[in-house]
Amino acid sequence: MLFRRNRKFSTPDPYNQDTPMRYLDKNNLGQHEDWYGTNAAVSCTSCGKVFIVSATLHRKGRKCPACGLCTATVTKQQVTITEPSDT
Ligand SMILES: [Zn+2]
Repeated sequence: MLFRRNRKFSTPDPYNQDTPMRYLDKNNLGQHEDWYGTNAAVSCTSCGKVFIVSATLHRKGRKCPACGLCTATVTKQQVTITEPSDT
């Protein structure tokens, strides 16, 4: 089952706690985040595991390899981390 929340038309707002999506800010990466070209390292919002996601290898995003609950996706424009918050 592929969980994907379509929020493509909303403005990325990392400070909005209500959104189930997080966006990496390239100019303000966290301690456990990195982003280079089409690859990014993100930390799972569920378990905290840091994992790599690539736009070329994971076109539909990559689930957290530890818990599988959140999915990170890299595009040219942004890195998003989606949580399955409504389950
Ligand atoms: Zn996880």
